[in-house]
Amino acid sequence: MSKLKIKSSPILLWILLFLFSSNQGFSWGFWAHKRINRAAVFCLPNNSCFDFFKNNLDYLTNNAPAPDLRRNSDPLEAPRHFIDLDIYCSGHDCDTFPHTWALATKKYSVDTIKKYGYVPFQIVFTYRKLVESMKNKDKDNILHYAADLGHYVGDACVPLHSTKNYDGQLSGQKGIHALWESKVPELMSNQFHFYAGKAHLIDSVQGMAWTLVNGSFNALDSVLAVEKSVSKDFSEDKKYVVKQRGKSNKKDYSDEFITAYGKELNPQIQRRLLTATNALGSFWYTAWAEAGQPDLSTLIDPKVAKEMKKKLKKEQKSLKKGNWDYTETISVKE
Ligand SMILES: [Zn+2]
Repeated sequence: MSKLKIKSSPILLWILLFLFSSNQGFSWGFWAHKRINRAAVFCLPNNSCFDFFKNNLDYLTNNAPAPDLRRNSDPLEAPRHFIDLDIYCSGHDCDTFPHTWALATKKYSVDTIKKYGYVPFQIVFTYRKLVESMKNKDKDNILHYAADLGHYVGDACVPLHSTKNYDGQLSGQKGIHALWESKVPELMSNQFHFYAGKAHLIDSVQGMAWTLVNGSFNALDSVLAVEKSVSKDFSEDKKYVVKQRGKSNKKDYSDEFITAYGKELNPQIQRRLLTATNALGSFWYTAWAEAGQPDLSTLIDPKVAKEMKKKLKKEQKSLKKGNWDYTETISVKE
């Protein structure tokens, strides 16, 4: 941050730096979280689980960011969203890290695991609650845990959620977290597609959670290296601009820099979005199968079902064709 050139008074500079360094969600932006949860529903095979999820599509979409909002009020929430694998491992594939909570906490202690995050375990914990809710045909809990699971699966697919250098603060790249997961997807949204194929039954839920996290860890090098190489083509005053956000001004990456980074890095972000989406659909489908394939159609509100039928058919078609016809109906304050 000390390298940034801003022609302004020290007080204004301080305010701008504060605004720049705060407001980082450290999670896919709300934009991407909502789309991962929503698109994952269309990965499900035709069964009562699909019908039930389809009829609650707006709930699953609008509650995708809920775990991030809980971080403000629940001190236990934050470490559920990441894991700093480079605390434990050097190089790629953190294969020395025990994959079960019991073995991991035995090796490193509960305090250490909580300090450096445990998103892969949180995926398994939330999945288990979803299975129980499905067995009990508990509508509210099914929706709650299904939406939460989407959030944690999404976070596990973000490379910067697998490192202690989560915002580039240790490599002189502060701000890269929001750049990768929010600014590029939002600015280049018309170049992303969200049809992630068919969900499948997962052999090992725990194994899958670790595959996602290791995939993120392995992608980390290019996330950082590409930012460094693209930055060489931008002077500081071309890389950053002051943008208006609500009523305040905020120092931010320029659109030109965001686009250049996104183009150079792609299709990595696209791939991680699709990986998260397909994995989420597969976790939901597997939870339903493990719960004994309960008939969830009995939980559907027939009035909503009638209203949604035509709309959803159209939306599914557009998603598959790559011109997804989805506009947010409820905006969540970020
Ligand atoms: Zn998060």
